[in-house]
Amino acid sequence: MIAARPLYWAVGPRAPSRKIELLLTSIRKVVLVGLSVAAVAACSSSPKADPVWAGSTQGLDSSAAATPEATGGAAAAAPVVKPSGSPSASAKSGTTAEATTTATNVKYAFPVIGNSSYGHTHHDYPATDVMTACGHTFVAVTSGVVLYTKTTDTWTAKANLGATRGGLSVAILGDDGVRYYGSHLSSIASGIKPGVRVKVGQTLGKTGKTGDASACHLHFGISPPCARGSDWWNQRGVLFPWPYLDSWKAGGAKSPVAAVKAWKAKNGCPTGPTVDK
Ligand SMILES: [Zn+2]
Repeated sequence: MIAARPLYWAVGPRAPSRKIELLLTSIRKVVLVGLSVAAVAACSSSPKADPVWAGSTQGLDSSAAATPEATGGAAAAAPVVKPSGSPSASAKSGTTAEATTTATNVKYAFPVIGNSSYGHTHHDYPATDVMTACGHTFVAVTSGVVLYTKTTDTWTAKANLGATRGGLSVAILGDDGVRYYGSHLSSIASGIKPGVRVKVGQTLGKTGKTGDASACHLHFGISPPCARGSDWWNQRGVLFPWPYLDSWKAGGAKSPVAAVKAWKAKNGCPTGPTVDK
């Protein structure tokens, strides 16, 4: 059991008054939301802007590749990977049938093996912090192709670059056309790198607290692929994953495809963060 209160006190030297505000807000909700305090605290954030990153984001929506510099260290993105079942996959031999049945035959798995809990809220933007012990297994929530990995933790509180806040992290492009992202990992599984196909339930890494995290948890984000990793503000999550997590945890297969498509139709691929910059 992770106590909510110590997480705030464990934030350390850069605990600004904003965290107190978040805490107070969370306390008001805590009766209904349970672990929301822990979740908000665990994936802490700072309003500090990053002009270097902001200046390097123009045009990335159409750019497939992410350079290590652009993503803050040992990050890698798959340039032009199309999963065989993607709605936009070309109709190559053997993939046509799969491509035309997207989202109806896709299987889903809960992203963490082992005890975990999560609230139906997140600070600043839609995502879910799945609270769990360090070293639990993070798995692919559906079949697909690895889009992005960040294999070293380059986050510092002083710089607090958005591209580094996730610490060790992995994103996949599901065969349903949706991007799924997990971060704050303690390790990434051997062989998991951009371009590699993964099966639903396949181990991607172990949970941890790398990056901007004060307690072990999996930050889980759902988004359209957009810039495939260099767009950390989209990759970290644009839709609340908890309706899907609720389903997957219960053995269901609720698909976020329609919601992601609707979000993309309305918002496109934002070229920079608007909150929690
Ligand atoms: Zn988070």
